[in-house]
Amino acid sequence: MKDREEDEDWIFTSAVRGGETPEKFHGALATPIYRASVYQFDDPISANEIHEGHKPGYFYGRMGTPTQSALESAICELERGEAAIGLASGMSAISSLLLTILKPGDHVLAPRSIYASTSALMKQILAPLGISIDFVNETDPAAWRAAATRQTKLVYAETPTNPMLTLVDLPALVQLAREYELISVVDNTFATPFNQRPIEMGVDFVVHSATKYLGGHADVVAGIAIGHQATIEKIRWHTAKLLGGIIAPDTASLVHRGLKTLPIRMQRHNANALAVARFLEQHSEVIKVHYPGLKSHVQYELALRQMRGFGGLIAFEVANYQRACQMLEKVKLCRLAVSLGDVSTLIQHSASMTHASLSKQHREAAGISDGLIRLSVGIERADDIISDLDQALAC
Ligand SMILES: *Cc1c(COP(=O)(O)O)cnc(C)c1O
Repeated sequence: MKDREEDEDWIFTSAVRGGETPEKFHGALATPIYRASVYQFDDPISANEIHEGHKPGYFYGRMGTPTQSALESAICELERGEAAIGLASGMSAISSLLLTILKPGDHVLAPRSIYASTSALMKQILAPLGISIDFVNETDPAAWRAAATRQTKLVYAETPTNPMLTLVDLPALVQLAREYELISVVDNTFATPFNQRPIEMGVDFVVHSATKYLGGHADVVAGIAIGHQATIEKIRWHTAKLLGGIIAPDTASLVHRGLKTLPIRMQRHNANALAVARFLEQHSEVIKVHYPGLKSHVQYELALRQMRGFGGLIAFEVANYQRACQMLEKVKLCRLAVSLGDVSTLIQHSASMTHASLSKQHREAAGISDGLIRLSVGIERADDIISDLDQALAC
């Protein structure tokens, strides 16, 4: 494990240097923010070539800016992808990619446990377009295989999943995709390229809500799609061009800045979350802890195989709805908020917050008990987070 970690430390340098080309910008170490919406051409011939995407260059803000390109090349280095496109939000990245690949009649396989807006996108926007979706038990490779049909075009996965922190076996998913000639897409928001690089494992595309760990400071909403160049360019010159959900230059700059400290933040998120998960596991008020880095996690062996670290997210269960609410009233350091991936520790109660729109029966089917609490462990001192949870758990 140690050797492997040392081999992987290239990411610390790539994160700091990726996408930065001071020689192009008067020596500026951080790519300037190009707010210009329009760029002048040198002559009509190159105008036409740039406009058609046959020659590199900029002409209109919706089709990219130097600030956006710098971010795109930085994330490509970290995820080891061929090309990337920055978009206005995680949902813009997911919808632009799926609408570029899929057409009426296609079939998609997706995890049962999935980000709620992604599942709503599939049911409320893709399904009415004639694209069918089957939601499978994500932890069982045989279930994915059994659900594949001749119409299946794409397998979509998230790992670890929200909010139960189950894993999808990525090598098994890649194997299935190869056998059935399916396109594979992985939402790598929870793991980040520091902990897991699906493209290196043979996945075709990675999507991110850069709003979370990539940005890292709870001050941007952004998304990125990474993968085969031809498809990414089709998003740029067709889907995103027509739907319009491109990343703003100021946002691109903030996400690029976030990437520079991503490895060091993730190292700390990983270490803090493991310490907090171990503390919760031995606490008498806690019934169960779901964290892929604990030996008690049913997929611990898989986590060791496909992840470098186990991330900052933990789910745990207290006795009931009332105990969970009491705890959330008592926390002081942990902030009661949705979302994740911030430097601050965030805490939320699934049944009353993110999953309140589901019936109790639906929640239970998804494994979400009334006492389930989700933590996005920040980079504060681990003992401070633990003391806060300890006092909040005291009766
Ligand atoms: C937040 C999130 C999204 C959506 O991203 P936005 O930036 O909010 O549009 C998608 N997938 C996962 C796993 C997320 O956590």
